[in-house]
Amino acid sequence: MVSPTELRASDALDVLRRVFGYDAFRGFQQEVIDHVVAGGDALVLMPTGGGKSLCYQVPALVRDGVAVVVSPLIALMQDQVDALTAVGVRAGFLNSTQDYAARRAVEQAFVAGELDLLYLAPEALGTRGVQQLLDRGRIGLFAIDEAHCVSQWGHDFRPDYLALSMLHERWPAVPRIALTATATSATRAEIATRLQLTEAKHFVASFDRPNIQYRIVPKKEPRKQLLALLRDEHPGDAGIVYCLSRASVDKTAEFLVANGIAALPYHAGLDAGTRAANQQRFLREDGLVMVATIAFGMGIDKPDVRFVAHLDLPKSVEGYYQETGRAGRDGLPSTAWLAYGLQDVVQQRKMIETSDGDLAHRRNLATHLDAMLALCETVRCRRVQLLEYFGQSGTADCGNCDTCLTPPETWDGTVAAQKLLSTVYRLDRERNQRFGAGHCVDILLGKQNDKISQYGHDALSTFGIGTELREAEWRGVVRQLLAEGLLAVEGDYGTLALTEASAEVLGRRRTVTMRREPEKVASTRSAKPRGAATVVAELSPTAGSLFERLRAWRAATAKEQGVPAYVIFHDATLRQIATDAPTSLAELSRISGVGENKLAKYGESILAVLADQP
Ligand code: ADP
Ligand code: ZN
Repeated sequence: MVSPTELRASDALDVLRRVFGYDAFRGFQQEVIDHVVAGGDALVLMPTGGGKSLCYQVPALVRDGVAVVVSPLIALMQDQVDALTAVGVRAGFLNSTQDYAARRAVEQAFVAGELDLLYLAPEALGTRGVQQLLDRGRIGLFAIDEAHCVSQWGHDFRPDYLALSMLHERWPAVPRIALTATATSATRAEIATRLQLTEAKHFVASFDRPNIQYRIVPKKEPRKQLLALLRDEHPGDAGIVYCLSRASVDKTAEFLVANGIAALPYHAGLDAGTRAANQQRFLREDGLVMVATIAFGMGIDKPDVRFVAHLDLPKSVEGYYQETGRAGRDGLPSTAWLAYGLQDVVQQRKMIETSDGDLAHRRNLATHLDAMLALCETVRCRRVQLLEYFGQSGTADCGNCDTCLTPPETWDGTVAAQKLLSTVYRLDRERNQRFGAGHCVDILLGKQNDKISQYGHDALSTFGIGTELREAEWRGVVRQLLAEGLLAVEGDYGTLALTEASAEVLGRRRTVTMRREPEKVASTRSAKPRGAATVVAELSPTAGSLFERLRAWRAATAKEQGVPAYVIFHDATLRQIATDAPTSLAELSRISGVGENKLAKYGESILAVLADQP
C-alpha cells in the first residue's frame, strides 16, 4: 500500500503512474488537473469513457485536504469507493443507504483528515448536519459529477443539483470541477450559470467514440434480430438492451433467457430490491445482458459493456448518445445497434401529441425527435452527423458505421410520395375519412380485403397504382415522409394526415430523396472484430488461453472480495498481460493498469497463473 504522505508529496504524473498504473495522461486530462491543482475552477465535457474520473481523483491526491465528490449515483458509490481502495486511495461515502456506525466512521475519518475523497449525494449537501461536518474538516476541492443533472431541460434533471450553487458561496476558496458527458452548448451554458461556474475554464473534448460502431437497421422482427446480433457477434459478452416500456423489457428478457442468453430485466416497476440485485449482478458477473428501460444506466461505469442495443427509438439524439456511450468505456471495439421502424415514428409522434405540457414543451419534444429521425434516415456517415449535432463539424467519414460500411442506395421517391400523399388526400377530401399507414399501403398495392371492400376503397383513383414497390418499401416511404414532416399522424389510432409541407410535394414543387429499404439487412460482420469472443480471437492461441485463465482467476478473486471483476483488473489490462506474459514483478509493473498497490496485492498470484502451464 502506498502511504498517504508519499502520495501527497508526489506530482500528478507520478500519482498517475504509481497509484493508477498508467503511463501517460489522455487527451487534456493533464491540463484539467494542472488547472484544478493550482486552484482554478473547471467545467469538463468529455464523452463517456474519456477519463473524467482521473480529472478529480488525481488532484484529490495532489492537493491538500479532502476532495468532496457530489454524485447522484448512490447505488454506485460503494463500487467507486471499492475501486479506489483497490489502488490504495483512502475514500469513503455518506449516503442514505448506510447505518449509523458506518456513517460515524466515515465522518470521523473525514474530520481527522484521513480521507482523500469523500462521495456525497447532492441531497446530503443540502442538510445542515453535513454542512457543519464539512466545516470541521479540510476540503481540497469539490467535484460535481454528472453536472448535466442541474439542467432542467435535460433528461436527468435532479432538483437537488440546483442548490449546489451554494458551494461557491459557502466555501469560496475551494476550487470546483464540474464534469459531464452531455454535450450541447445549451446544456453547457446552463450548467455554468446554475452552478455559478461563470469564471470556470471550459475543457471540451471531442465527442467521438471511435471504438463504437454505430448501426441503425430497419425493424422487422426486433427480438429475432437482436438474438441474431447477440449470437453472431457478441456471444458471451456483457451488454445493455433498451426498450421503451416495462412490458417489453420483461418480454424481451424472457425471450432471451428462453433462448439461452443470460439476461436480466431492469425497470422502475420492479421493486427496489430486485432492481438493486440485478444491477449488482450485471456489474459483478461477466457476460450478462441487462434488458432495461432508460431508468437504467446513468453512471454505470462498467468498462466492458460490449454492446448497447435499442429495440425502440430514443426520444432524442442526446439520449441516444448517452445510452450508446455506455458501451466500450475500455476503448475496445463495441457495437451500438438500433432497430427502427415505421411504428416507432407513429408511436413517438403520438406520444408527443398527447403529452401534458404546453405548446412550447411539445415543440421542444418534436424538435428533439426530428433530430433523432434525421440520424436514422441519413445516408451520410452516422458519426459525422452525430458529431455535427454536438457542434463538432468537419470530421471525415468514419469507416466504422453502417452507412460507411454498406453505403445505402438512394432513390428518387417523389412519385411514390405523391401516390401516398394523394391517397391520404383523397380519403380525407373525398370521403372525409382517415386511416393508418397499413390501410393506405393496402390501397396502393390494390389488395382485396374486407376493409377495402367494406369502405369501397377499390373505387379510389389511387387503388392499385403502387404495385411497383413491395409492402416493406411502402412502409419505408411512409416512415421517411413522417420523419421529414411531409406527413403527420394523428389521434389514438395513429391515422395519417397531410401537413402544410405535403402540398409542396403534391404540387411538384419539391422532390423527395429516399433511402432504399434493403431486401435483407446487410451484415457488417466482416468489418471489424468485436466482442469478447473476437477479443480473444485476436490474440494468439497461447495468449488466448492465458487470457481465459486470467479471467477465471479474476472472477474467483472478485467473488472472494465481493467487488466487480473490473475493480481487480480491466479486460484491456488482462489482455496485455496475456500477450506480454511477464515473468517477473518488474515486467508486470510496466503493464498499463498495474499500479503499485495492485502489483503488491495480485502480482504473485498473476505470475503463478501465468507460470501454471496446463
Ligand atoms: P468517464 O468517467 O469519463 O466515463 P472513466 O474515468 O471511467 O471515464 O475512464 C474510462 C476508462 O479509461 C477507465 O477504465 C479508466 O481507468 C481509463 N483511463 C482513464 N484515463 C486513463 C489514462 N490516462 N490512461 C489509461 N487509462 C485511462
Ligand atoms: Zn461512418
